[in-house]
Amino acid sequence: MSFLIAIERGPLYLVSMTEFPESLLEGYRNFRGGRFVRERERYERLATTGQKPTTMVIACCDSRAAPETIFNSLPGEIFVMRNVANLVPPYTPEDNDTHHATSAALEFAVQSLKVTNIIVLGHGRCGGVAAALDPDLEPLSPGDFIGRWMDLLKPVATMVDGHKSACGAESHTVLERLSVCNSLTNLRSFPCVSILEKKQRLKLHGAWFDISTGELWLLDEDAKIDETKQLAHERFKLVV
Ligand SMILES: [Zn+2]
Repeated sequence: MSFLIAIERGPLYLVSMTEFPESLLEGYRNFRGGRFVRERERYERLATTGQKPTTMVIACCDSRAAPETIFNSLPGEIFVMRNVANLVPPYTPEDNDTHHATSAALEFAVQSLKVTNIIVLGHGRCGGVAAALDPDLEPLSPGDFIGRWMDLLKPVATMVDGHKSACGAESHTVLERLSVCNSLTNLRSFPCVSILEKKQRLKLHGAWFDISTGELWLLDEDAKIDETKQLAHERFKLVV
């Protein structure tokens, strides 16, 4: 029997390979014998020269909204940060009690990789956004990590009150798009982002992907639709 050795904080644990999901192993073998062979040169070049993606995408963990799939991108092309509901926290360097995973990825993308585009990609039927709209939702665990994470959305979740006449799905779409706008605002609270944007060396973009139709909508921040933030979600234009 073959074994993988897993190291966890010092002691060694033996994990049987047979416990690894077979569907993933099958997928890996297909990749190794197919795409990896066809694109070997690309992988070897990326290994030698390192990654030089020009775009960072901040997307949701949702298994249906993978940026690499939506944008049909190749290895090394986009630097991806995924979290629940594609949220960007505001710039809070003094907060030492929090592990800033998203801020760390952003810092690396902007300061080290020097990406020239950052895309915040929201999506339809987002479970995290749905949770933010449900006042009766119980925490999934005593830590309530999702609840506390989704607090980032509270400032815009209250705006959706004006859309109570809309059906639930529409309210979700409104908040999913407002969330993208909110994340862009928080992105601009990072000095390294705002300075480079003002120098026109970095562009920020908002997008929203509809899982059911495959449609991609882009935020037009210059659109003169309405200056009220309640209607900011209407600034998304369908990509044709
Ligand atoms: Zn989501």
